[in-house]
Amino acid sequence: MAIHFISDLHLADDTPALNQLFLDTLAAWRGRIAALYILGDLFEYWVGDDDDSPYLEAPLAAMRAFAADTPLYVMRGNRDFLLGAGFEARSGAKLLDDPMLIEAHGRRILLSHGDALCTDDAAYQQFRAMSRNPQWQQAMLAKPLAERHAIARHARAQSEMNKQQTGLTAISDVTETAVRELLAAHDWPTLIHGHTHRPAHHLHDASSRWVIQDWHGDRGGYLRLDEQGIAQLPLS
Ligand code: MN
Repeated sequence: MAIHFISDLHLADDTPALNQLFLDTLAAWRGRIAALYILGDLFEYWVGDDDDSPYLEAPLAAMRAFAADTPLYVMRGNRDFLLGAGFEARSGAKLLDDPMLIEAHGRRILLSHGDALCTDDAAYQQFRAMSRNPQWQQAMLAKPLAERHAIARHARAQSEMNKQQTGLTAISDVTETAVRELLAAHDWPTLIHGHTHRPAHHLHDASSRWVIQDWHGDRGGYLRLDEQGIAQLPLS
């Protein structure tokens, strides 16, 4: 059976079509694939495992139902980096470290969200280091839920503004240097990542790198791995 990979769904309380696509996709794949890997930014933001937003109930219940039949793995992205043990309990998913090496269908495959590879974006890498610090996370999670939501809304508005001002610039893509370093450190596996919203298949010497497409509007996509190899496929 095939293994499927998705990332960058950016589910939120104001993305009903995407949330529905996620529910439909889980229902369609449940029990019919070997495993599902969600490689980061499943949620537009995640303010803590105690988030009781009503829109979360349906996707978390659908994940629990899915995970009862089919292995379900989730990697943290740059939006939902606060996913923790409480999320695992609520979703039935198992959280993965980034990067994570797996072996499947005779291939060594390295999984990553991809944000750590965008090394030209110094300001972001600084934020990444800070936001992955356990003390910083503890201080954030100690704030009242309403305050964490306000911080997340502010960060989201800021990010939207930056995107509109600068568009899709080179700084938000991975660098060849970071990719080659990561591949070399793991003896040149196949790399699968998301984050950049630039779906493609790149060659790096004997290795290759698949970039998963993001979901937006009412459509998405996924990577399928089976005996035939890897393929990028649409969802709608
Ligand atoms: Mn991302």
